[in-house]
Amino acid sequence: MGARRKFVAGNWKMHGMAGSLSELQLIAAAADASKSVDVALCVPSTLIARAADAAPTLPIGAQDCHQAEHGAHTGCVSAAMLAEVGARLTIVGHSERRQDQQESNADIKAKAEAAHAAGLSVILCCGETEAQRDAGQAIARVTAQIAESMPDDASADWLTIAYEPIWAIGTGRVPQTSDVAEMHGAIRVKLRDLIGEEADAMRILYGGSMNGGNAAELLAVSDVDGGLVGGASLSADKFVPIIEAAASAS
Ligand code: PEP
Repeated sequence: MGARRKFVAGNWKMHGMAGSLSELQLIAAAADASKSVDVALCVPSTLIARAADAAPTLPIGAQDCHQAEHGAHTGCVSAAMLAEVGARLTIVGHSERRQDQQESNADIKAKAEAAHAAGLSVILCCGETEAQRDAGQAIARVTAQIAESMPDDASADWLTIAYEPIWAIGTGRVPQTSDVAEMHGAIRVKLRDLIGEEADAMRILYGGSMNGGNAAELLAVSDVDGGLVGGASLSADKFVPIIEAAASAS
């Protein structure tokens, strides 16, 4: 198997209006220049069409999709709708949605299947709470999330795992690199159980307070194939150093 290409994805969460497109174009220019790294930006759904127009070479993603193709789901957006306006990927199962919208693993699996059916790539998030880590349950929780939320036919060409310890998201705290290595290794083993040899091609991103100062160290950890980046993806001056660190680690 060839080496897995590093993948850095930004998650703008509920940030970004039309005025942010100039920032997005700066990020796209850096992504174009960095040929050894895959880069994508997941923006609010209101911005997808304009972002895809403003930066045609940068894969633009959504942050969630509904699992149904269409129907009486007020306020929701289907994967096909996202694809129609220019999304090429979507995040599913982010911990903020698991918590705020009470999304279950079964919901997330259905969303990932719907996204794939609509031609979108998927970043499937998993991660433990601080209490679960303190109780020694982190690996069991995360591998169970993956077993229950990853589609049975998942393959590396359309699905990426993002491991995001919930206590590290937006807090400025990051796990010890030894803990990251242990978790990513355990995820790889679980993926082999679930999908066999395909597991070795599947990328596993780390997410949680990644920034220009810690990216090189995190991206050098075994089985860390890139990053899912929240706060530091909002501006080019913070995000581009992470892309460059991924290029150096490639
Ligand atoms: C995220 O929400 O996916 C994330 C990793 O956020 P942050 O980088 O801000 O911790």
